[in-house]
Amino acid sequence: MKTMTCKQLGGPCDLPLRGETANDVIKAQDRHLKEMVAGGDETHQSALKEMKGRWKNPVSGLGWYRKAKRDFAALSQV
Ligand SMILES: [Zn+2]
Repeated sequence: MKTMTCKQLGGPCDLPLRGETANDVIKAQDRHLKEMVAGGDETHQSALKEMKGRWKNPVSGLGWYRKAKRDFAALSQV
């Protein structure tokens, strides 16, 4: 398992997200953003919007996705 924070994935807080793969933590971040915004948090709104834009426009989202995967790969196991 590795941990990336909300902040490392483009969000505003330091919540740790754990996963076996980069896809896992990206999915966890997606879920976290939705939960925060659904709960009325405004600081996560722009990050959620960016995340949604990435799914809608995979080509421009790819750079972000590759970077997240690279950052994840560079982490040590915890
Ligand atoms: Zn967050």
